[in-house]
Parts: sequence; C-alpha cells; structure tokens
Amino acid sequence: MKNLPILVLLCVAACSAYPLEQTAKNKDTSMDLVQQYLENYYNLAKDAKQFVRRKDSSPVVKKIQEMQKFLGLEVTGKLDSNTLEMMRKPRCGVPDVGQFTTFPGSPKWRKTHLTYRIVNYTLDLPRDAVDAAIEKALKVWEEVTPLTFSRNNEGEADIMISFAVREHGDFIPFDGPGKVLAHAYAPGPGLNGDAHFDDDEQWTEDKRGTNLFLVAGHEIGHSLGLFHSTNPEALMYPVYNPLTDLARFHLSQDDVNGIQALYGPPPASPKEPAVPTEPTPAAPETPDMCGPDLSFDAVSTLRGEMLFFKGRHFWRKSHGTVEAGFYLISSFWPSLPSGVDAALEVTSKDTVFVFKGNQFWAIRGNEIQAGYPRAIHTLGFPPTISKIDAAIYDKKKKKTYFFVKDKYWSFDEKRQSLEPEFPRQIADDFPGVGPTVDAVFEAFGFFYFFNGSSQFEYDPNAKKVTRILKSNSWFNC
Ligand code: ZN
Ligand code: CA
Repeated sequence: MKNLPILVLLCVAACSAYPLEQTAKNKDTSMDLVQQYLENYYNLAKDAKQFVRRKDSSPVVKKIQEMQKFLGLEVTGKLDSNTLEMMRKPRCGVPDVGQFTTFPGSPKWRKTHLTYRIVNYTLDLPRDAVDAAIEKALKVWEEVTPLTFSRNNEGEADIMISFAVREHGDFIPFDGPGKVLAHAYAPGPGLNGDAHFDDDEQWTEDKRGTNLFLVAGHEIGHSLGLFHSTNPEALMYPVYNPLTDLARFHLSQDDVNGIQALYGPPPASPKEPAVPTEPTPAAPETPDMCGPDLSFDAVSTLRGEMLFFKGRHFWRKSHGTVEAGFYLISSFWPSLPSGVDAALEVTSKDTVFVFKGNQFWAIRGNEIQAGYPRAIHTLGFPPTISKIDAAIYDKKKKKTYFFVKDKYWSFDEKRQSLEPEFPRQIADDFPGVGPTVDAVFEAFGFFYFFNGSSQFEYDPNAKKVTRILKSNSWFNC
C-alpha cells in the first residue's frame, strides 16, 4: 500500500499535535479520513512534510479552519467531534475549494438549449423512476433560468449522465458505499458537463437510501456551472441532507441567485401576468415592426439581448434568433412607465437604466431596484434639463453619454459625476450623427444611433458613420 509511509508520518506528527476525540484504535482511520478529505475537497497538498507541530501556522490547521468555515461549523482548527462527524457524512465528490474542471474561471454554456443523455441505469430503481428523477432535477433549474433541456437517446449530449463504481475512466474513482455519492463537471465539451453517480450507493425515490433526485439536482447545478455553496439550506451545499422535505422541495435563494448570475431569469416570470405572444388587434397604438416609418423611443441591451422600446411595448431580440419577441413593458416591469425616453445597460453593474422625463429607474433582469425612480438632477444635470433623449454606456471608456437635443453630456461611471467640460455639440464629436438622437445602443463595438426611421452605424474608434440603415434593420422584415 503506497500511502502507508505518509499515513504513519501523518499520525506521528499530527495525532500528537491535534488531540482527537477518538479511541486509539480509530486514530489511523480518522487521520486517513482527514488527510483524504482535506486533499480531496480543500486542496491540501499531498506532501507529508507539511505536518509540522507549530499549531496555528500548520497548513492542516488552516485547511481544517477553512473546511469548518465553509461548512458552517465552529471554526476551532481542531478535529472536534462535529468536524469528524461532518467529514464522515455522504457528500458530493466535487471539491469545495479549487477547481474540478478542465477550464479555469467560471465556465457557463454559451447556449440556452442543452441536451442530456442517460447513458446507463442503476439496478436500484426501475428505469422510469431514474428518468423521472433526472427530469425533475433538470426542471428545478429550468424553472428559474432561460435554459431548456431535451433528451438524446444515443450519441453525444451536453450532459452525459451515468452510473459507475470505483475507477470509471476519469481519474477520480468512486469509493464504494457512502462518502462520495456523485460528481459532475463544469460546462464545456467532452467530459465537461457530465454527471457520474456512484452505483455503490442505494439509490431511491424516497429517503430510505440516497435520494436520486436530490443528488441529481445538485450535480446538474455543477453541470451548469455552479460551485458549492456555504449555505446549508442551498441545494449546492456539498453535504447530502437527508432531512430535506422532498414534498416541498424548492431551490434556496442562494441557488437561484447563483444560476441567474450565469444565465439570467426565465423569459417571463410565472409570477408576472402572461406575456402576449402577438399584438392585440384592439390596441390602436400597436406599432408595425416592419413599417417604413418605424422609430423607437429608446434602445438598450440587456444581458446580451436587444430591447427596442416603443410606447407601451418593447421588442426583445437575441443575436442568435431571427424573430423578435413583442411584449408589454408592464408585463415585465409593472412599475415602469410607457413611452420611455432613453435606456442603457451599464454592463459592469449588470443594470439597465431607463429614463422618462426627469426620472430614471434601475433594472436587474425583471426586477426594479429599490430606491428608484430617482431624479435625473441627482446625476448633476442642471434644472433646465427636463428630459434625456438617448443614452449609451461606453464600455471601453467607462463613460455614459447622455444626449439632449443637439448636445451631449459625459458621465464618469468611476467618479459617479458628470464631466466638467460638457455639454458638447453632438455634431462635433459624433460627426455624421444627428443633429438630434432618439435612441442609441452598442453592438459589436459599433454605436447605433436612431433618428426617426433612420439608423446610423457609428465606429467610435474611426469616429465616423460606417452605414446608414432603416431603424428596423434588426428585425427580420
Ligand atoms: Zn457538488
Ligand atoms: Ca460512495
């Protein structure tokens, strides 16, 4: 057994320095457990020399403290009974600290429709029970994101789900009954996105053994790009919770915040009124998206999509889709007014600011932020300014430009103030644009200025208009 010298060293040094609440005959297995646990989940280096006697500076003590803090235990740095008990609990095999993926950073899928495949089955449950548990686990995430899933019965899928024991081809073998229940890989090609379940566990539909739905829900969280949560209420907490109320299962806010930080909320929240899929014929002001005279009140991006505001409605279009969706503003943001003047996304804050008259609102996803609307004069505009025509955030310069009649102001997002040498003439700094602007937004490094039914594609580096288009050129007319 090649680990033996390490274990002996570990026990000589560590057992005397950190007294265990254990009987002598359990020491070896406890230290094995501790060593393995900290190596597997807390990135402890596999190096026996680190077990020095100086208590507080020891890497092991630091790792024990890190583990206690992560899992919500009292941070003692000692192997007290609660800590050892926690280390013995069944859990996910993905580390709490450090990466378990071939990609560093926080990978996510660059698409919203994902495929999954159940490659093989456990003998613990009927096949349809396995299918149902996986489907339910996917639905948990589908409900709070724009993500959708479909099943492949053969070939490659984004999320390949399999049951295996011990060594199963990914260099992270399972460990027999108990302890590690499953593991999964962060988004990406090949092995990435896949979820493996230890078939030495007794998988169940209820709580007698290990509940497959609960573990699958957690693992699919990893497949979608989530790491472990320190919140014991969260599905993404690394330790299996046999006390979860299955009948009333719901994601914690922590899980929802985590997944929505990656993918945003679902297209229309079920809490909001239903979104009309086609314009109501009775509404006289319903605009014709392909009409030659179509103009916009405001245009903005929102988390990679484009929003075109017009009266009580807006069109929403993602770069990947041909069709633009058409919605009532009030169906997404009930407290926003209609006929807005300007809108811009400050991507560094994941916030869209919407202006009407002398007020503005801040939006994240489909929530209006607390403390809004605010007066535009709090941004530093003189009292003579009663409305903004258009606004855009310049990502490169970290400046927001506000267009008012034939002039514009520059707002420094870092200093949170209007720059002193403004307003300046639009015609001087954006030659070819104007004289006034209805709306403006950024895409692919260009600024697109709207004036009535015309649209000016402007290259901010070359400082010139590169194309003149119809305002509705973004729609598939
Ligand atoms: Zn996990
Ligand atoms: Ca196991």
